Amino acid sequence: MDKIEQLTTWLQQSQRIVFFGGAGTSTESGIPDFRSAQGLYSENGKRGYSPEEMLSRSFFEKETELFFEFYRSKLIHPQAKPNPVHNVLALLEKQGKLLSIITQNIDGLHQMAGNQKVLELHGSIHRNYCTTCRHSYTLDDVLAQSGVPRCPIDQGVIRPDVVLYGESLNQDVLEKTVEVLSQADLLLIGGTSLTVYPAAGLVSYFRGQHTVLLNASPTGHDRHADLLITDPMGSVMEKVQQRL
Ligand code: NAD
Repeated sequence: MDKIEQLTTWLQQSQRIVFFGGAGTSTESGIPDFRSAQGLYSENGKRGYSPEEMLSRSFFEKETELFFEFYRSKLIHPQAKPNPVHNVLALLEKQGKLLSIITQNIDGLHQMAGNQKVLELHGSIHRNYCTTCRHSYTLDDVLAQSGVPRCPIDQGVIRPDVVLYGESLNQDVLEKTVEVLSQADLLLIGGTSLTVYPAAGLVSYFRGQHTVLLNASPTGHDRHADLLITDPMGSVMEKVQQRL
């Protein structure tokens, strides 16, 4: 049996599938990841700062203008559309076989594809709030302004509801993540270097039968995978979709 056939068979046989994904899930939608050759870490960072520094809480506070310059140009991709990875997961949820998506992504493409069961470990660019009065704003509200977005009510800075480096993950999301991982019968891990903690460590809560790892480059979890596929995951899922 080839790898695509094996993956399709396990997807068909499983009833409680969990997908744990990262930035590689969306590269075939045109959103660069962090650690691929074309990823954001391969760029030097503006004025000598690394992307990790520029996306930190302290940078957001001290260099707010530069933060938004980087954030707007590198992390917001309003034209991006779901690719076959997102579409297969939406189909699996429709079939009642998907327990949850757990994503480190902040791009909202799973919801755009039709998934509702999405745990966003690092938040979302689609939720924004005033750091002074906490009023909520949409991504369109942020895009309607340039530079540092300001709250029309009190001129406070509007920030994205994303987890910056140096900030903690949402406790409720973390607890639900552990819960779904420990109930899953099939774990699909995809498009993540599994290097950002604590998110990456959570996959060890999986107790089910099979782990499938879809990732172009090696990860520290490869030896735990029952099936390892290194081809671009969008084209893999396109073939899976034709067989499901
Ligand atoms: P990462 O950049 O560290 O790793 C991405 C992994 O995906 C790499 O190992 C790469 O080889 C693999 N990959 C890339 N394209 C692939 C493809 N088409 N098929 C198969 N594998 C592919 O990303 P990460 O592990 O998610 O961690 C980085 C952090 O970046 C996350 O916390 C996330 O919040 C943030 N981020 C999110 C987005 C987004 O929302 N789309 C984009 C960039 C960064």
